[in-house]
Amino acid sequence: MTLDIDAPAPSAPACADDGVWLACIACGSTFAPFEDVRYTCDDCDGLLEVRYENPPTFEEFGSGASTDGPDRGVWRYREGLPFESGVTLPEGDTPLHEVPRLEADVGVSTLRIKHEGMNPTGSFKDRGMTVGVRVAEELGVDALACASTGNTSAALAAYGGRADLETLVLLPSGKVAAGKIAQASLHGARILEVDGNFDACLDIVQELAARGEAYLLNSLNPFRLEGQKTIGFEILEAFHADHGTFPDRIVLPVGNAGNTAALYKAFRELVQSGALAVEDVPKLTGVQAAGAAPMVEAIENGADSIRRWEDVETRATAIRIGNPVNAPKALPGIRNTDGTAVAVADEEITDAQRALANEGVGVEPASAASVAGLRKLRREGVVDDDEDVVCLTTGHLLKDPDAAYEAGNDPEPVANDVDAVLELL
Ligand SMILES: *Cc1c(COP(=O)(O)O)cnc(C)c1O
Ligand SMILES: [Zn+2]
Repeated sequence: MTLDIDAPAPSAPACADDGVWLACIACGSTFAPFEDVRYTCDDCDGLLEVRYENPPTFEEFGSGASTDGPDRGVWRYREGLPFESGVTLPEGDTPLHEVPRLEADVGVSTLRIKHEGMNPTGSFKDRGMTVGVRVAEELGVDALACASTGNTSAALAAYGGRADLETLVLLPSGKVAAGKIAQASLHGARILEVDGNFDACLDIVQELAARGEAYLLNSLNPFRLEGQKTIGFEILEAFHADHGTFPDRIVLPVGNAGNTAALYKAFRELVQSGALAVEDVPKLTGVQAAGAAPMVEAIENGADSIRRWEDVETRATAIRIGNPVNAPKALPGIRNTDGTAVAVADEEITDAQRALANEGVGVEPASAASVAGLRKLRREGVVDDDEDVVCLTTGHLLKDPDAAYEAGNDPEPVANDVDAVLELL
């Protein structure tokens, strides 16, 4: 199986361009990477993956081998990417916070928070877009499009704007947090609000892309996951620098399951190059909201594919998704790393959001799902108290000001008078 954790580095097919090509994860067909616009396999419609003749080692990262572009953030990992540089703002190089109170409260040996909300537009989607928009330039397209629960549209609008390309975003009407629409709007995207959920938006935009109307930059696009892979590289490097070991487990929220797939790919490539031992690969642990949990259902049932949920609901709108398109990549990622998946209630998400915020880490609801999931898995004894864990927080608190306001303390009105203020204290 091509997605095995210890699959050897592949040898380059004739269609490869400078050691890079696209391969179908279902049937193995290979394609030239930049000759045509292609999102899925020509032969079986399976998901595509970018492959490398020379998978990266830690030593190559940040070696400054190229002078063409920044040697920081995502592009510090250019040896593991299909290009040397891209359309950059710049992205990546996010903090790996210590959270001593939360760590003690959850009861694990180490808890660190990888805060992806600290990217230029406030979510990890920027890592995917810096690579994805670079590929769009290579292909010579003039318009970009995505369906989005919000953050993808914000990132697409910003990076598309930077590259001077037209951007079109399809959003589920009434289900996108205010900060995200504000970003897409001001960065100049054409915004269409669809009377349907995210999955319906993605169906439509895939059809538009198939008809050649625009270049699709959802995480179905395999190049986006290349940029997001660098989250895995950064976590391993930073954790190892501080602790001398790699984390036992990485816990992350799951929507379309692109990030889960991307992290698994990062680990597989490091295993292929010999940089990482199979036994050092962290257990990938996915968290979904109880109202949108098809991946959890598939993991619990030992199923090979997910069942599409038509009706999804959660306060964590970024992961309000019933048909995760990257499930065929992410399910093996969770299983082959000995990880798991868990669903959490919206109240647990809000509690975790508060706990993070009390330690200075401001995240949006979907992000807090990672911590809520870890708490639940500790309660259930699935996660041991001696584990070193990294939780991924995917988006910034300000993305969803309404949710923050509801979760936080209410402002108290007071008269314009010192005594009145003192009275209240
Ligand atoms: C996109 C997004 C997710 C879901 O990530 P997937 O890669 O689709 O699983 C989670 N949280 C936030 C804040 C997001 O923007
Ligand atoms: Zn195929």
